[in-house]
Amino acid sequence: MTRRPVIAIDGPAGAGKSTAARNLAERLGLVYLDTGATFRALALKAIREHIDLSDESALAALAERSEIRFEGERLEKIFLDGEDVSEAIREQAVANASSAVAVHPTLRAGLVELWRKIGTRGGVVLEGRDIGTVVFPDAEIKFFLDARPEERAKRRFSEQSAKEDVTIDRVTQDLKIRDQADRTRQHSPLRRAEDAIAVDTTDLTPKQTLDRLLEETRKRLN
Ligand code: C5P
Repeated sequence: MTRRPVIAIDGPAGAGKSTAARNLAERLGLVYLDTGATFRALALKAIREHIDLSDESALAALAERSEIRFEGERLEKIFLDGEDVSEAIREQAVANASSAVAVHPTLRAGLVELWRKIGTRGGVVLEGRDIGTVVFPDAEIKFFLDARPEERAKRRFSEQSAKEDVTIDRVTQDLKIRDQADRTRQHSPLRRAEDAIAVDTTDLTPKQTLDRLLEETRKRLN
């Protein structure tokens, strides 16, 4: 590979972005940045402090007095005010709250700045909703991962049920609400960038998804 690329991976929850982004970064020796984790971290703090998720100025003030940082060789851990919250942010309630938090443009602006700071050095795979459209519109490679809603709910359920008491119905319903919110919000909605490579992962294993992404990446970078 000649350049240290920025690779954008967008798509809805349960499309397989995290696994694919992590695997791709590992295979190419790049850093992996989970941008959704930053919304989840702020959402976790908002829940803990009983802040109304529709109150943009209260949330902006909360973000102002929060320190979010990524750590680890591949930036796989996230710290909120010095606390490792990598596990805590994976709860279902935090996922739901994160998309409520993500509608607010002032909050997004601060986080986008943080992601860009990490990404501009290159050599990074960023995973999110608006990486290819808004954050890095000039990314060398853009992917848009998607899968059938039932399959995405099934994947999410098998992840969540290992950690907490959830039902498939609850997970399916929450996913639907989050999808709808992410796709229809006014600022930086989830959509495929025109130049993003669409990959339907419904019938693909993580290994097949990785192979597909590697193939496309090599085609474009070599
Ligand atoms: O990717 P993940 O499911 O962890 O993201 C949690 C939430 O954060 C999403 O539902 C979405 O509302 C928000 N998000 C976003 N833009 C990103 C990444 C995540 O709005 N780039």
